[in-house]
Amino acid sequence: MLLSVIVPCFNEEGNIDLFYEETVKELGDLMPDTELIFVNDGSRDATMEKLRALCQRAEYRVRVVSFSRNFGKEAALLAGLREAQGEFTSIIDADLQQKPSYIVQMLDILNEHPEYDAVAAYQEERKEGLVLSLFKKAFYKVIDSLTDVKIMQAASDFRVLRRPVVDAILALPEKCRFSKGIFAWVGFETYYMPYVVEERASGTSKWNFWKLMKYAFDGIIAFSNKPLIMSSVAGLFITGLSLLYLIIIVVKTIIWGDPVAGFPTLACLILMLSGIQLLSVGILGQYMAKNYTESKERPVYIVKEELDNGSQQKIS
Ligand code: UDP
Ligand code: MG
Repeated sequence: MLLSVIVPCFNEEGNIDLFYEETVKELGDLMPDTELIFVNDGSRDATMEKLRALCQRAEYRVRVVSFSRNFGKEAALLAGLREAQGEFTSIIDADLQQKPSYIVQMLDILNEHPEYDAVAAYQEERKEGLVLSLFKKAFYKVIDSLTDVKIMQAASDFRVLRRPVVDAILALPEKCRFSKGIFAWVGFETYYMPYVVEERASGTSKWNFWKLMKYAFDGIIAFSNKPLIMSSVAGLFITGLSLLYLIIIVVKTIIWGDPVAGFPTLACLILMLSGIQLLSVGILGQYMAKNYTESKERPVYIVKEELDNGSQQKIS
């Protein structure tokens, strides 16, 4: 098998057929040596029916992994990577925002340049609202300054990876998976290829502000210990400051017999200190929560059904 194409799908009923037609058209001669792996991430619309029908009629290899519920795109990617058998593995969205023709370009780059292990597509200009775009920029600034791994700002999950890269990613046992960090963490030489994002062929984006916010926090917690260090440093700094203040008050009282200035100072101090304490406990809690999740060793996803028009097997 030359190429595995992983397609995470969550409520993409309108896009499955379009995606297949477009991919077959663009990949052309590559199709006989390609497997399309659709991961149905607990869709609540007719995505699974569409996939079942596609599996029946497709003239090329189509495999489907269907989850028991929605486990998120990261889980879908992991399932796809585990299933992929190709020498090259590509990850692409089902909504045709990322044109399958770019996969051919990415493969060409890897064939021409043996020194590269992966090609990642990035958006030169983001076609998003101003707020979302600013938020994403800020997130990458923060994660860049907090983590040791270098995450290329605009790079998407739209990639083609050589087998050793896939194997390296699969060797990471963690349950809380933040792909952008994992891609960066495993290293290897990555070529960044600009691409233009299309409009969604059908349906709506699965991300909203809060989902993105959670994604951002998860990413930071998964790849950086610096927030913990920062809260310790802040604690130390404030303790030093309050000690200094205490000495000043004592000296002033003993030498000049000054009455201690009352309520406002006290209120400010209490508010500031308890704020910082809560923040630190919160940060600590986030790490403990992640640790807790990891230690439960629950699977990242549960497979309900698998289809494969290569062998027509069905497991449930
Ligand atoms: N997706 C998924 N599980 C989810 C959310 C999204 O498998 O919980 C898939 C979705 O079907 C699509 C891809 O991930 O193929 C990207 O999602 P979307 O298009 O909503 O993201 P956007 O392009 O707006 O960033
Ligand atoms: Mg999309």
